[in-house]
Parts: sequence; C-alpha cells; structure tokens
Amino acid sequence: MSHVFPRHTKANLPTAVSGEGCYIIDSNGKRYFDGSGGAAVSCLGHSDQTVRQAIKDQVDELAFAHSGFFTSDPAEKLADLLIAHAPEGIERVYFVSGGSEAVEAALKLARQYHLERGDDKRSHIIARWQSYHGNTLGALSAGGNRWRRKPFEPLLVPMTHIDPCYAYRYQAQGESLEDYAIRAADLLEAEILRVGPEKVAAFICEPVVGATMGAVTAEPGYLKRIRKICDQYGVLLILDEVMCGMGRTGSLFACDQDGVSPDILCIAKGLGAGYQPIGAMLCSGKVYKAIEDGSGFFQHGHTYMGHPVACAAGLAVITAMFERNLLGKVQKRSLQLMTALTSAFGQHPYIGDIRGRGLFIGLELVRDRESKHPFPSDLALHAKVKKIAFANGLICYPMSGTIDGQSGDHILLAPPFIIEEEHIGEIVDKLAKTFAMIP
Ligand code: PLP
Repeated sequence: MSHVFPRHTKANLPTAVSGEGCYIIDSNGKRYFDGSGGAAVSCLGHSDQTVRQAIKDQVDELAFAHSGFFTSDPAEKLADLLIAHAPEGIERVYFVSGGSEAVEAALKLARQYHLERGDDKRSHIIARWQSYHGNTLGALSAGGNRWRRKPFEPLLVPMTHIDPCYAYRYQAQGESLEDYAIRAADLLEAEILRVGPEKVAAFICEPVVGATMGAVTAEPGYLKRIRKICDQYGVLLILDEVMCGMGRTGSLFACDQDGVSPDILCIAKGLGAGYQPIGAMLCSGKVYKAIEDGSGFFQHGHTYMGHPVACAAGLAVITAMFERNLLGKVQKRSLQLMTALTSAFGQHPYIGDIRGRGLFIGLELVRDRESKHPFPSDLALHAKVKKIAFANGLICYPMSGTIDGQSGDHILLAPPFIIEEEHIGEIVDKLAKTFAMIP
C-alpha cells in the first residue's frame, strides 16, 4: 500500500521514472507526450542538459543559506536578468517557491504599500470570475473558480470579482472587439466606485487566463484601459503571469504584448521549468520605495525564498531561452500548432473555440456550436478527455468550465518550447484519436 497522499485518492497513477525531451516515461516503458508541460511548467522539456548541470554545480557549491542572513550569486544574477527584460518600471524581484506564494506576497505587498504611505483604509482587493490564482487561502480568495472556492468559502478573505474579458462568451452581437474590451474593462471602474475608491488596494488579473478558461487572451485595449482606471483611482495593478509568463506566449512577460506595465507581477512555473520549484513576485520601483522609505521591512517571508539551487535553475532556464532564441521558436511553432488544430478541429461539432497566444492554446468544448451551450457538468467531459488522451499517450490539461454555467469544458495545450514540427502532428493525431473515442 502506498503511503503517499495523492490528490485523487481513487486514481491508480503510473510511476514516472524518466524524462526525455518532450516525453515522460513510466515504469512500464510507456511514453507520454507532454502536451501541456504538466500545467504549463516544462517549457524546456524533461532532460535539459544545461539546467541539470547548473543544479548539480550549485548543490556542490552551496545548497542553502537562509535569505534572512545572506543573499546569493544565483539569486542576484537571476534578479538582474529578469529585471533587464521586465516591463518598464519593474525594478525588484522577491523570490518564492511557487505561484500561490507569489500571489500571496503580491496581495500582502499591495496592502503594505498603502499602509507605508499612511493610507490604512485601502485593503479591498478586486479580482475576476473564472480566474485561478492558486490554492492557498489568500490566492484562493482572489481566484474566481466557484468550484475550487466552494468548500472553503467560510475561510476565504472577503474580496469582490468582476467578469473577465472573454469575447467568445460575453461580446454582444454587433459589438466590435474594441468596444467590448472597453466595456469589459469599465466593469472595474464600476466596482471601484461601488466599493469606494478610498478602500481599494489592488486589482488582480491574468493577462491570458489559463487554468479556469483555457488560454483566454484579454482583447486588445483591455489591459491598457485597466491600467488607466487603476491609475485614476490610486489602485495597484497586479498581473498574475504564473501560467502565461516566462515565454509561454512568445515574449518573456505576456503583458509586454499588451503594452502595459503592472505595479506587481507574479511568475512561477516556466521560471524553474519543472527542474526546481521557484516563483517570484516582481514590483515597481515606486512600490519598493514605499517600503524602503517607510518601515524598511516587508512583513512576509518563507524559509525557502531565494533558494540558491532553485535560483541557479531559474537562471539556467531563462539564459537558455535567450541563447537558444526559444521565444522566436514559440512564435513560429504557435502559428504551426494553431493552423494544424484549426484545420483538424475547426469544424468539429463539439469544439466551439480554438484560441490562445504563443504555445498556450485552449480548445473549448461545447454541446452545440451555434448556441455555444456547454456540456452538462455532471458529464465531467474534461475528466474523460484527460483519461482517454493519457491512455493514448498524450498529456493535456483539461478543466471543467461548466460550474459557472457560462463556459464549456476546455483543454489547455502548453507544450515545451522545444517541440519540432513532427510533435505538432503527434499532438493533433492523438487529440483526434481521443475525440473519436469520447462516448
Ligand atoms: N496563478 C496562476 C495564474 C496559476 O495558473 C497558478 C497555477 O496553476 C497559480 C497562480 C498557483 O501556482 P502554484 O500551483 O505554483 O502554487
């Protein structure tokens, strides 16, 4: 009997024993193509030689030194590299161990920023429905996935939510995308005014929504309008790029493509590429200065923040992205994958939408393409797709959206940046086989 406490206690999981490029191999020798990078994590595949070597070298040199006593070369170098490529105004990096920790740090920093400036009224956070920001209680409170929130509702911090920018579902008939983007962003202004601008500390959103909606990109103009509204009311803008950042959409930071700089930015997943658990919260010079000129102490922290081995891995990952022009490769493969998916499934009766940016692509499954009506949630279609695809040797990341009654089940594809053209064929073939087997 296993003593591991798995997420799904009834699942009988195979044992992963090795990784080879885009594949994971189990103890029976079965090979799985990692079409979702786990959950958009494994951007360099599973056997990158330089990252492995960087980790070994760092362990031999120094495995751990508590960040309350020391900084370390890998942490300093990784912070320099991230800041050199960060959106305008972003100047500092706070290393943590994953995405939820990055979001927790962001929410607390937003609150402390206002306190340090002598404004103790601002504590309210506004977030969006159909979002995911992590599973710890603060991050879950910000998250807008009702199914994930439901059991823990009594424990959650009061925050409020607006509808996301989701043109496939919410764009009105006859409305242009530009007009829709502005209307969707103006929901934030209405909510700030409803709550009282003097009480609002921050607004948090994912530039490209991952886990809850399946690669839904904010329409052009949306984030710029959001930035303007935040500035107008003194509200900090937190962008959660835990899933969509670190090259996943074809630029190191997703918001670069929207021409917007946040006050606080969360990253994780692709930063360590699965080789080490690492995340980070980045902030603007303005936000940092409020702490520096105030108490001089950010009242937050974790034992493993700035872990030298995790930072060494992150440094090797980001260096590899630039040295091997992997961002250019993401853009090229994105076009190829999107074209292949559209030609294979664009007219599929159950696929309502194929969307995304870079190697971050979602397929929304609907019962009826015309009405966009989702499949009933008790069918748990996403779980069936995951199981059948896995049996066919394809790892994809399916999620039910039907809990809101407003979106369909979806499949998220986020393959490693190192995929070649033949891998695109493999993804499409395995998906086609999977869809054909769905009862
Ligand atoms: N934020 C976003 C946008 C995510 O997609 C996730 C994880 O999927 C998280 C936060 C939480 O990250 P982690 O699972 O590393 O805690």
